[in-house]
Amino acid sequence: MPATVTRIQLGSGAFSVNAYLICTDLGFVLVDTGMRSHRAELERRLAEAGCTRDSLKLILITHGDFDHVGSARHLRDALGAPIAMHEGDTRMAAQGDMFAGRKTPGFVAPTFLPLVARLPEESRFEPDLLLDESSDLNGYGLPGARILSLLGHSAGSVALLLSDGSLLVGDLLENRSTPKLGSIMDDVPLAQESVDRLRTLGVGTVYPGHGAPFEMSELR
Ligand SMILES: [Zn+2]
Repeated sequence: MPATVTRIQLGSGAFSVNAYLICTDLGFVLVDTGMRSHRAELERRLAEAGCTRDSLKLILITHGDFDHVGSARHLRDALGAPIAMHEGDTRMAAQGDMFAGRKTPGFVAPTFLPLVARLPEESRFEPDLLLDESSDLNGYGLPGARILSLLGHSAGSVALLLSDGSLLVGDLLENRSTPKLGSIMDDVPLAQESVDRLRTLGVGTVYPGHGAPFEMSELR
């Protein structure tokens, strides 16, 4: 059975963010965890999907921003699944500082201000597994899936490319109104290089961190 991806939209409007639940032959892989304030909503959606302590195999984090890691530690404690992320963003999660490892702390846009508050102590964490391009996700029910290290948004941003061409892209791309490069980039030229690379990889449906899924061919 091919893995299926379900979007879990958390919150609404400008501050909505997506988590994704991938159902595999071996159980579930949760990609990102929303903000702390989304915890109850996320737990309800996981329960509805039948994602339990026994069936959740992995919590995969696309990058360390607090609108994506907010409930990671809580869910690890509650459901017993390990957290995997790229080393480049581990300081953000462990220190609760979204500027850790980033170039220019001056770029804060007004829409980002609610996220600037530091991640509180009880939500900080060290990952159990470090992801890189050699990571093998076979053991989590995702044979042929690849981790792509995609610089631009943050040093530790990764995307998950499934064997059917589905791409869970984090915040490199977004689709709040139209598919485009994410609105907040640490390094735009590097981000553009990452997008150019994606165009060579046979990507089909893109599942962004913010906004609705879209086809890679829709990206101008
Ligand atoms: Zn985000």
